[in-house]
Amino acid sequence: MTRPAGVPRVHEDLSEVLFDEEEIRAAVERIGARISEDYRDRDLVLVGVLKGSLFFLADLSRAISVPHQFDLVGAHSYRGVKPSEQVTVDKDISLDLRGRDVLIVEDIYDSGKTLKVVYDMVRLYQPANVEICALISKNVPREADLPVKYVAFEIEDVFVVGYGLDYRERYRHLKCIGALNPEVYE
Ligand code: 5GP
Ligand code: MG
Repeated sequence: MTRPAGVPRVHEDLSEVLFDEEEIRAAVERIGARISEDYRDRDLVLVGVLKGSLFFLADLSRAISVPHQFDLVGAHSYRGVKPSEQVTVDKDISLDLRGRDVLIVEDIYDSGKTLKVVYDMVRLYQPANVEICALISKNVPREADLPVKYVAFEIEDVFVVGYGLDYRERYRHLKCIGALNPEVYE
């Protein structure tokens, strides 16, 4: 069967699957258990960064056994596969964070630019404390060093998609996390 013109392939566009569904599930369970331990008897609010952390946030929230709430902020710096200079915030927090224990949930800790913007924004609301949980931490030089307390996966500097992560808004629905074949964007 031939593909209609303009419709991208899906799994065939990955050069490698880095983490499959089962590995992701196990890592999220592990972090959820640690958070449940660390946030016992506290006032936890997860703040997910749209859109990349959406599936991670949804799974993580259900892996946390202590009471908590969650909210979402919109912030992004990527255009295609290259970071852009500008970080755009297009959705603010709606829960009251004052005096509460905030855990920012981000897809990827890369240069740290996006996270720094979200971190500073969250702190304006005067929470009791702010920590960060990242699905992936990339082994790259940081522009901003941040208190990233929980990390599910560490990777080298490759461009990845799946489990919420996109390339031009595609591939988010993949159940695995994989390296995008450079042929797709070169
Ligand atoms: P930073 O501001 O830390 O340089 O970039 C972080 C943001 O860039 C992440 O929230 C994520 O949205 C995006 N990003 C960084 N690396 C990748 C990647 O390998 N794949 C995808 N899809 N997005 C990435
Ligand atoms: Mg993002």
